Amino acid sequence: MRRETIAVHGGYEDDPTTKAVAVPIYQTAAYSFESADHAAALFNLEAEGFRYTRISNPTTAVLERRVAELEGGLEALCVATGQAAVNYAVGNVTQLGSNIVSVPQLYGTTHTLFAHVLPNQGVTVRFAESDEAHAIEALIDDNTRGVYCESVGNPAGNVCDIEALAQVAHKHGVPLIVDNTVPTPILLRPIEYGADIVVHSLTKFMGGHGTTLGGAVVDAGNFPWEKHADRFPMFSQPDASYHHLVYTEHFKRAAYIGRCRSVYQRTAGAVLSPLSSFLLLQGLETVALRVERHVENGARVAQFLREDPRVEWVNYAGFEDSPWHGLARKYLDGQGCSLMTFGVRGGYEAAKRFYDALELVKRLVNIGDAKSLACHPASTTHRQMSGEEQRKAGVTPETLRISVGIEHFEDILEDLDRALAAATPTVKWPPIHAEARRKKRHFDGNV
Ligand SMILES: *Cc1c(COP(=O)(O)O)cnc(C)c1O
Repeated sequence: MRRETIAVHGGYEDDPTTKAVAVPIYQTAAYSFESADHAAALFNLEAEGFRYTRISNPTTAVLERRVAELEGGLEALCVATGQAAVNYAVGNVTQLGSNIVSVPQLYGTTHTLFAHVLPNQGVTVRFAESDEAHAIEALIDDNTRGVYCESVGNPAGNVCDIEALAQVAHKHGVPLIVDNTVPTPILLRPIEYGADIVVHSLTKFMGGHGTTLGGAVVDAGNFPWEKHADRFPMFSQPDASYHHLVYTEHFKRAAYIGRCRSVYQRTAGAVLSPLSSFLLLQGLETVALRVERHVENGARVAQFLREDPRVEWVNYAGFEDSPWHGLARKYLDGQGCSLMTFGVRGGYEAAKRFYDALELVKRLVNIGDAKSLACHPASTTHRQMSGEEQRKAGVTPETLRISVGIEHFEDILEDLDRALAAATPTVKWPPIHAEARRKKRHFDGNV
Protein backbone atom coordinates (compact mmCIF):
# COMPACT_ATOMS: atom_id res chain seq x y z
CA MET A 1 0.00 0.00 0.00
CA ARG A 2 1.05 3.59 -0.58
CA ARG A 3 1.58 5.95 2.31
CA GLU A 4 -1.79 7.73 2.01
CA THR A 5 -3.52 4.35 2.23
CA ILE A 6 -1.34 2.98 5.03
CA ALA A 7 -2.20 6.08 7.06
CA VAL A 8 -5.87 5.09 6.89
CA HIS A 9 -5.72 1.28 6.98
CA GLY A 10 -2.25 0.15 8.09
CA GLY A 11 -2.09 -2.49 10.80
CA TYR A 12 -5.80 -3.08 11.15
CA GLU A 13 -8.48 -5.31 9.75
CA ASP A 14 -11.95 -5.32 11.29
CA ASP A 15 -11.86 -6.32 14.94
CA PRO A 16 -12.01 -10.13 15.05
CA THR A 17 -14.54 -10.33 17.89
CA THR A 18 -16.93 -7.44 17.11
CA LYS A 19 -16.15 -6.50 13.47
CA ALA A 20 -15.74 -2.90 14.66
CA VAL A 21 -14.41 -0.83 11.76
CA ALA A 22 -12.83 1.82 13.99
CA VAL A 23 -9.90 0.55 16.05
CA PRO A 24 -11.35 -0.35 19.49
CA ILE A 25 -9.87 1.21 22.60
CA TYR A 26 -8.69 -1.71 24.70
CA GLN A 27 -8.64 0.19 27.97
CA THR A 28 -7.32 -2.64 30.10
CA ALA A 29 -4.26 -3.08 32.28
CA ALA A 30 -4.05 -6.87 31.93
CA TYR A 31 -5.27 -9.89 29.97
CA SER A 32 -6.46 -13.18 31.44
CA PHE A 33 -4.56 -16.43 30.94
CA GLU A 34 -6.20 -19.67 29.91
CA SER A 35 -3.97 -21.64 32.27
CA ALA A 36 -0.63 -21.64 34.05
CA ASP A 37 0.98 -23.17 30.97
CA HIS A 38 -0.51 -20.48 28.74
CA ALA A 39 0.80 -17.79 31.08
CA ALA A 40 4.25 -19.38 31.07
CA ALA A 41 4.25 -19.57 27.26
CA LEU A 42 3.38 -15.87 27.06
CA PHE A 43 6.12 -14.93 29.50
CA ASN A 44 8.57 -17.10 27.56
CA LEU A 45 7.54 -15.21 24.41
CA GLU A 46 6.62 -18.58 22.91
CA ALA A 47 2.92 -17.81 22.48
CA GLU A 48 1.57 -14.68 20.82
CA GLY A 49 -0.72 -12.57 22.92
CA PHE A 50 -0.98 -9.91 25.57
CA ARG A 51 -0.04 -10.03 29.24
CA TYR A 52 0.05 -6.55 30.66
CA THR A 53 -0.36 -3.16 28.98
CA ARG A 54 3.05 -1.95 30.12
CA ILE A 55 4.48 -4.50 27.63
CA SER A 56 1.91 -4.31 24.83
CA ASN A 57 -1.73 -3.49 24.13
CA PRO A 58 -4.00 -4.32 21.15
CA THR A 59 -4.92 -0.69 20.39
CA THR A 60 -1.31 0.44 20.62
CA ALA A 61 -0.26 -2.57 18.52
CA VAL A 62 -2.31 -1.21 15.60
CA LEU A 63 -0.59 2.15 15.94
CA GLU A 64 2.81 0.42 16.07
CA ARG A 65 2.09 -1.54 12.91
CA ARG A 66 0.81 1.56 11.13
CA VAL A 67 3.81 3.71 12.04
CA ALA A 68 6.23 0.91 11.07
CA GLU A 69 4.55 0.52 7.68
CA LEU A 70 4.45 4.27 7.08
CA GLU A 71 8.20 4.45 7.66
CA GLY A 72 8.88 1.33 5.60
CA GLY A 73 10.33 -0.28 8.75
CA LEU A 74 10.12 -3.79 10.14
CA GLU A 75 8.69 -3.08 13.60
CA ALA A 76 7.85 -0.20 15.89
CA LEU A 77 7.42 0.40 19.60
CA CYS A 78 5.10 3.25 20.58
CA VAL A 79 5.72 5.04 23.86
CA ALA A 80 4.33 7.85 25.98
CA THR A 81 6.25 10.76 24.42
CA GLY A 82 8.74 11.58 21.71
CA GLN A 83 11.30 12.19 24.42
CA ALA A 84 10.85 8.67 25.78
CA ALA A 85 11.36 7.38 22.23
CA VAL A 86 14.67 9.24 21.93
CA ASN A 87 15.74 7.99 25.36
CA TYR A 88 14.88 4.35 24.58
CA ALA A 89 16.37 4.44 21.07
CA VAL A 90 19.74 5.55 22.38
CA GLY A 91 19.60 3.53 25.60
CA ASN A 92 18.94 0.34 23.67
CA VAL A 93 22.35 0.45 21.97
CA THR A 94 24.52 1.91 24.74
CA GLN A 95 26.19 0.72 27.94
CA LEU A 96 28.41 2.28 30.59
CA GLY A 97 31.33 3.91 28.74
CA SER A 98 29.60 4.08 25.36
CA ASN A 99 29.32 7.23 23.30
CA ILE A 100 26.95 8.50 20.61
CA VAL A 101 28.03 10.96 17.93
CA SER A 102 25.38 13.57 17.16
CA VAL A 103 24.83 16.49 14.83
CA PRO A 104 24.85 19.78 16.76
CA GLN A 105 21.41 21.17 15.86
CA LEU A 106 18.79 19.32 17.85
CA TYR A 107 15.44 19.70 19.52
CA GLY A 108 16.05 21.46 22.85
CA THR A 109 15.10 18.63 25.22
CA THR A 110 17.03 16.07 23.19
CA HIS A 111 20.04 18.34 23.51
CA THR A 112 19.52 18.50 27.27
CA LEU A 113 19.23 14.70 27.48
CA PHE A 114 22.42 14.28 25.46
CA ALA A 115 24.50 17.03 27.03
CA HIS A 116 23.48 16.74 30.66
CA VAL A 117 21.48 13.61 31.52
CA LEU A 118 23.08 10.71 29.65
CA PRO A 119 26.62 11.64 30.79
CA ASN A 120 25.47 11.06 34.40
CA GLN A 121 24.47 7.56 33.36
CA GLY A 122 27.90 6.89 31.87
CA VAL A 123 27.03 7.52 28.23
CA THR A 124 28.60 10.53 26.56
CA VAL A 125 27.33 12.31 23.48
CA ARG A 126 29.84 13.93 21.20
CA PHE A 127 28.42 16.86 19.28
CA ALA A 128 30.01 17.34 15.87
CA GLU A 129 31.00 20.79 14.64
CA SER A 130 28.48 20.54 11.79
CA ASP A 131 25.91 18.19 10.24
CA GLU A 132 28.43 16.99 7.69
CA ALA A 133 29.51 13.39 7.45
CA HIS A 134 33.23 14.16 7.79
CA ALA A 135 32.58 16.10 11.01
CA ILE A 136 30.66 13.11 12.38
CA GLU A 137 33.24 10.58 11.25
CA ALA A 138 36.04 12.48 12.98
CA LEU A 139 34.39 11.77 16.36
CA ILE A 140 33.63 8.04 15.96
CA ASP A 141 35.84 5.71 17.98
CA ASP A 142 35.79 2.17 19.40
CA ASN A 143 33.23 3.13 22.06
CA THR A 144 30.78 4.72 19.63
CA ARG A 145 27.43 2.94 19.47
CA GLY A 146 25.45 5.13 17.13
CA VAL A 147 25.19 8.27 15.02
CA TYR A 148 22.25 10.58 15.75
CA CYS A 149 20.54 13.28 13.71
CA GLU A 150 17.19 14.92 13.01
CA SER A 151 16.21 14.51 9.35
CA VAL A 152 14.97 18.10 9.49
CA GLY A 153 16.11 19.89 12.62
CA ASN A 154 13.74 21.54 15.07
CA PRO A 155 13.87 24.55 15.20
CA ALA A 156 16.58 25.40 12.68
CA GLY A 157 14.95 23.57 9.75
CA ASN A 158 18.35 22.26 8.67
CA VAL A 159 18.19 19.19 6.42
CA CYS A 160 20.66 16.40 7.18
CA ASP A 161 22.31 14.27 4.50
CA ILE A 162 20.95 10.97 5.79
CA GLU A 163 22.58 8.88 3.08
CA ALA A 164 26.05 10.29 3.79
CA LEU A 165 25.60 9.91 7.56
CA ALA A 166 24.40 6.30 7.13
CA GLN A 167 27.46 5.48 5.03
CA VAL A 168 29.83 6.85 7.65
CA ALA A 169 27.98 5.09 10.48
CA HIS A 170 27.94 1.75 8.66
CA LYS A 171 31.61 2.04 7.69
CA HIS A 172 32.35 2.06 11.43
CA GLY A 173 29.83 -0.64 12.31
CA VAL A 174 27.26 1.49 14.12
CA PRO A 175 23.60 2.31 13.35
CA LEU A 176 22.22 5.66 12.25
CA ILE A 177 19.34 6.90 14.44
CA VAL A 178 17.17 9.57 12.83
CA ASP A 179 14.47 11.70 14.46
CA ASN A 180 11.94 12.11 11.63
CA THR A 181 9.37 14.17 13.55
CA VAL A 182 9.42 17.27 11.36
CA PRO A 183 9.03 15.89 7.82
CA THR A 184 7.00 12.77 8.77
CA PRO A 185 7.18 9.72 6.48
CA ILE A 186 4.81 11.54 4.13
CA LEU A 187 7.67 13.81 3.02
CA LEU A 188 10.67 11.64 3.83
CA ARG A 189 11.39 8.04 4.78
CA PRO A 190 14.91 7.93 6.26
CA ILE A 191 15.07 4.13 6.01
CA GLU A 192 15.10 4.41 2.21
CA TYR A 193 18.39 6.30 2.57
CA GLY A 194 20.05 3.88 4.97
CA ALA A 195 18.79 4.93 8.42
CA ASP A 196 18.57 2.00 10.84
CA ILE A 197 16.38 3.41 13.60
CA VAL A 198 13.77 6.16 13.19
CA VAL A 199 12.25 7.98 16.14
CA HIS A 200 9.18 10.17 16.27
CA SER A 201 7.33 12.54 18.44
CA LEU A 202 3.81 11.47 17.45
CA THR A 203 2.65 14.54 19.38
CA LYS A 204 3.46 16.69 16.35
CA PHE A 205 2.40 16.26 12.72
CA MET A 206 1.68 12.52 13.01
CA GLY A 207 -1.13 12.98 15.57
CA GLY A 208 -1.54 16.45 14.17
CA HIS A 209 -4.05 18.12 16.43
CA GLY A 210 -2.07 19.08 19.50
CA THR A 211 -4.17 16.90 21.78
CA THR A 212 -2.06 13.84 22.53
CA LEU A 213 1.52 13.11 23.51
CA GLY A 214 3.17 10.06 21.99
CA GLY A 215 6.40 8.71 20.58
CA ALA A 216 7.64 5.90 18.37
CA VAL A 217 10.84 3.96 17.80
CA VAL A 218 10.94 2.23 14.42
CA ASP A 219 13.53 -0.36 13.41
CA ALA A 220 14.37 -0.89 9.75
CA GLY A 221 15.43 -4.44 10.61
CA ASN A 222 18.60 -4.05 8.55
CA PHE A 223 21.41 -3.50 11.06
CA PRO A 224 23.61 -6.61 11.49
CA TRP A 225 23.82 -6.70 15.30
CA GLU A 226 25.44 -10.15 15.32
CA LYS A 227 28.19 -9.11 12.92
CA HIS A 228 29.07 -6.27 15.30
CA ALA A 229 28.58 -8.33 18.45
CA ASP A 230 31.71 -6.83 20.02
CA ARG A 231 30.02 -3.43 20.05
CA PHE A 232 26.50 -4.69 20.70
CA PRO A 233 26.72 -7.70 23.01
CA MET A 234 23.26 -6.86 24.40
CA PHE A 235 21.58 -8.30 21.32
CA SER A 236 23.56 -11.50 20.79
CA GLN A 237 24.55 -12.43 24.38
CA PRO A 238 22.11 -14.07 26.84
CA ASP A 239 20.25 -11.40 28.81
CA ALA A 240 20.27 -12.09 32.56
CA SER A 241 17.38 -9.63 32.99
CA TYR A 242 15.17 -11.77 30.78
CA HIS A 243 15.91 -15.39 31.71
CA HIS A 244 18.94 -15.44 29.42
CA LEU A 245 17.07 -14.70 26.24
CA VAL A 246 19.28 -14.03 23.19
CA TYR A 247 17.45 -11.32 21.25
CA THR A 248 18.98 -12.01 17.84
CA GLU A 249 18.08 -15.70 18.19
CA HIS A 250 14.57 -15.15 19.44
CA PHE A 251 13.50 -12.08 17.46
CA LYS A 252 15.87 -12.53 14.49
CA ARG A 253 15.75 -9.32 12.40
CA ALA A 254 13.43 -7.72 14.95
CA ALA A 255 15.95 -8.01 17.82
CA TYR A 256 16.18 -4.25 18.34
CA ILE A 257 12.48 -3.65 19.04
CA GLY A 258 12.25 -6.99 20.88
CA ARG A 259 14.87 -5.82 23.35
CA CYS A 260 13.54 -2.27 23.49
CA ARG A 261 10.16 -3.62 24.56
CA SER A 262 11.42 -6.39 26.86
CA VAL A 263 13.97 -4.22 28.63
CA TYR A 264 13.14 -0.51 28.26
CA GLN A 265 9.38 -0.52 27.98
CA ARG A 266 9.10 -3.18 30.68
CA THR A 267 11.41 -1.46 33.18
CA ALA A 268 11.20 2.24 32.34
CA GLY A 269 7.49 2.07 31.63
CA ALA A 270 6.85 5.21 29.57
CA VAL A 271 3.71 3.58 28.22
CA LEU A 272 1.25 5.15 25.81
CA SER A 273 -2.31 4.87 27.09
CA PRO A 274 -4.73 2.97 24.83
CA LEU A 275 -6.90 6.09 24.55
CA SER A 276 -3.89 8.08 23.36
CA SER A 277 -3.12 5.40 20.79
CA PHE A 278 -6.68 5.69 19.52
CA LEU A 279 -6.46 9.49 19.27
CA LEU A 280 -3.13 9.27 17.47
CA LEU A 281 -4.61 6.73 15.03
CA GLN A 282 -7.46 9.18 14.34
CA GLY A 283 -4.95 11.91 13.62
CA LEU A 284 -2.79 9.69 11.45
CA GLU A 285 -5.66 8.96 9.08
CA THR A 286 -5.35 12.50 7.68
CA VAL A 287 -1.59 12.97 7.96
CA ALA A 288 -1.01 12.93 4.19
CA LEU A 289 -3.69 15.55 3.51
CA ARG A 290 -2.60 17.72 6.39
CA VAL A 291 1.10 17.64 5.51
CA GLU A 292 0.27 18.65 1.94
CA ARG A 293 -1.58 21.74 3.19
CA HIS A 294 1.05 22.47 5.87
CA VAL A 295 3.75 22.49 3.19
CA GLU A 296 1.71 24.65 0.80
CA ASN A 297 0.93 27.21 3.51
CA GLY A 298 4.54 27.05 4.70
CA ALA A 299 5.78 28.07 1.26
CA ARG A 300 3.39 31.03 1.17
CA VAL A 301 4.39 32.21 4.64
CA ALA A 302 8.11 31.86 3.86
CA GLN A 303 7.71 33.91 0.69
CA PHE A 304 5.65 36.56 2.46
CA LEU A 305 8.21 36.94 5.25
CA ARG A 306 11.10 37.08 2.84
CA GLU A 307 9.55 39.85 0.74
CA ASP A 308 8.69 41.95 3.77
CA PRO A 309 11.28 44.62 4.63
CA ARG A 310 10.35 44.35 8.34
CA VAL A 311 11.85 40.86 8.40
CA GLU A 312 15.62 40.57 8.49
CA TRP A 313 16.09 36.94 7.57
CA VAL A 314 14.12 33.74 6.95
CA ASN A 315 15.50 30.21 7.23
CA TYR A 316 13.55 28.01 4.89
CA ALA A 317 14.98 25.08 2.98
CA GLY A 318 12.45 25.60 0.17
CA PHE A 319 14.29 28.75 -0.99
CA GLU A 320 16.69 28.06 -3.84
CA ASP A 321 19.42 30.08 -2.14
CA SER A 322 19.03 28.27 1.19
CA PRO A 323 22.21 26.42 2.22
CA TRP A 324 19.96 23.35 2.64
CA HIS A 325 18.19 23.59 -0.68
CA GLY A 326 20.38 20.94 -2.33
CA LEU A 327 19.50 18.53 0.46
CA ALA A 328 15.85 19.62 0.35
CA ARG A 329 15.84 18.68 -3.34
CA LYS A 330 17.34 15.30 -2.56
CA TYR A 331 15.18 14.44 0.45
CA LEU A 332 12.06 16.63 0.37
CA ASP A 333 11.31 17.00 -3.32
CA GLY A 334 12.68 20.55 -3.16
CA GLN A 335 10.05 21.60 -0.64
CA GLY A 336 10.57 23.19 2.72
CA CYS A 337 8.62 21.93 5.71
CA SER A 338 6.03 24.12 7.38
CA LEU A 339 8.45 24.76 10.23
CA MET A 340 10.73 27.77 9.76
CA THR A 341 12.65 30.35 11.71
CA PHE A 342 13.00 34.06 11.02
CA GLY A 343 14.27 37.25 12.56
CA VAL A 344 12.25 40.45 12.81
CA ARG A 345 14.18 43.67 12.21
CA GLY A 346 14.97 45.24 15.58
CA GLY A 347 16.39 42.25 17.46
CA TYR A 348 15.18 40.76 20.72
CA GLU A 349 12.78 43.58 21.66
CA ALA A 350 11.11 43.62 18.24
CA ALA A 351 10.80 39.82 18.34
CA LYS A 352 9.00 40.12 21.67
CA ARG A 353 6.64 42.83 20.35
CA PHE A 354 5.90 40.67 17.31
CA TYR A 355 5.23 37.67 19.49
CA ASP A 356 2.92 39.56 21.85
CA ALA A 357 0.90 41.03 18.95
CA LEU A 358 -0.04 37.69 17.38
CA GLU A 359 -3.75 36.93 17.53
CA LEU A 360 -4.55 33.95 15.30
CA VAL A 361 -1.14 32.30 15.53
CA LYS A 362 -0.85 30.76 18.99
CA ARG A 363 2.00 31.55 21.37
CA LEU A 364 3.14 28.16 22.63
CA VAL A 365 5.82 25.49 22.44
CA ASN A 366 4.55 22.84 20.12
CA ILE A 367 4.73 22.18 16.41
CA GLY A 368 2.72 20.19 13.92
CA ASP A 369 -0.74 21.16 15.16
CA ALA A 370 -3.46 21.93 12.59
CA LYS A 371 -3.27 25.41 14.15
CA SER A 372 -0.47 27.85 13.34
CA LEU A 373 1.91 28.14 16.27
CA ALA A 374 4.81 30.40 17.11
CA CYS A 375 7.54 30.15 19.67
CA HIS A 376 10.47 32.21 20.82
CA PRO A 377 13.10 29.49 21.39
CA ALA A 378 15.60 31.64 23.31
CA SER A 379 13.08 32.20 26.12
CA THR A 380 11.45 28.74 26.06
CA THR A 381 12.58 25.50 24.37
CA HIS A 382 16.25 26.45 24.31
CA ARG A 383 16.29 28.46 27.53
CA GLN A 384 18.32 25.89 29.48
CA MET A 385 21.20 26.22 27.04
CA SER A 386 24.14 28.58 27.25
CA GLY A 387 24.39 31.28 24.58
CA GLU A 388 27.05 29.25 22.83
CA GLU A 389 24.92 26.09 22.92
CA GLN A 390 21.98 28.10 21.55
CA ARG A 391 24.07 29.42 18.68
CA LYS A 392 25.18 25.90 17.79
CA ALA A 393 21.56 24.75 17.86
CA GLY A 394 20.71 27.52 15.38
CA VAL A 395 18.99 29.82 17.87
CA THR A 396 19.76 33.54 18.28
CA PRO A 397 18.01 35.95 20.70
CA GLU A 398 15.70 37.30 17.98
CA THR A 399 14.88 33.94 16.38
CA LEU A 400 11.19 33.18 16.08
CA ARG A 401 9.95 29.76 15.06
CA ILE A 402 6.67 29.27 13.30
CA SER A 403 4.85 26.04 12.61
CA VAL A 404 2.44 26.95 9.86
CA GLY A 405 -0.98 25.38 10.27
CA ILE A 406 -3.68 24.37 7.84
CA GLU A 407 -5.91 27.45 8.16
CA HIS A 408 -6.63 29.61 5.10
CA PHE A 409 -3.28 31.18 4.24
CA GLU A 410 -4.72 34.69 3.95
CA ASP A 411 -5.77 34.60 7.59
CA ILE A 412 -2.29 33.52 8.64
CA LEU A 413 -0.60 36.22 6.52
CA GLU A 414 -2.91 38.91 7.86
CA ASP A 415 -2.02 37.98 11.42
CA LEU A 416 1.71 38.05 10.64
CA ASP A 417 1.28 41.36 8.85
CA ARG A 418 -0.43 42.87 11.89
CA ALA A 419 2.21 41.53 14.28
CA LEU A 420 5.03 42.85 12.09
CA ALA A 421 3.45 46.29 12.12
CA ALA A 422 3.34 46.18 15.94
CA ALA A 423 6.93 44.95 16.12
CA THR A 424 8.48 47.56 13.87
CA PRO A 425 6.52 50.80 14.27
CA THR A 426 9.40 52.87 12.89
CA VAL A 427 9.85 51.01 9.61
CA LYS A 428 8.24 53.04 6.82
CA TRP A 429 5.79 50.45 5.71
CA PRO A 430 3.17 49.94 4.40
CA PRO A 431 4.08 51.89 1.27
CA ILE A 432 0.83 50.57 -0.12
CA HIS A 433 -2.27 50.08 1.93
CA ALA A 434 -2.56 46.72 3.71
CA GLU A 435 -5.72 45.94 1.79
CA ALA A 436 -3.95 46.54 -1.51
CA ARG A 437 -1.15 44.23 -0.47
CA ARG A 438 -3.68 41.59 0.44
CA LYS A 439 -5.25 41.87 -3.01
CA LYS A 440 -1.84 41.69 -4.60
CA ARG A 441 -1.19 38.41 -2.82
CA HIS A 442 -4.48 37.08 -4.15
CA PHE A 443 -3.49 38.18 -7.61
CA ASP A 444 -0.03 36.60 -7.43
CA GLY A 445 -1.65 33.30 -6.52
CA ASN A 446 0.88 30.56 -5.98
CA VAL A 447 4.30 31.38 -4.67
C1 LIG B 1 8.74 17.53 20.19
C2 LIG B 1 9.94 16.83 19.71
C3 LIG B 1 10.50 15.79 20.46
C4 LIG B 1 9.95 15.37 21.81
O1 LIG B 1 8.66 14.88 21.68
P1 LIG B 1 7.56 14.93 22.89
O2 LIG B 1 6.44 14.15 22.30
O3 LIG B 1 7.25 16.35 23.13
O4 LIG B 1 8.21 14.26 24.05
C5 LIG B 1 11.60 15.15 19.95
N1 LIG B 1 12.13 15.52 18.77
C6 LIG B 1 11.61 16.51 18.02
C7 LIG B 1 12.24 16.87 16.72
C8 LIG B 1 10.50 17.21 18.47
O5 LIG B 1 9.99 18.20 17.73
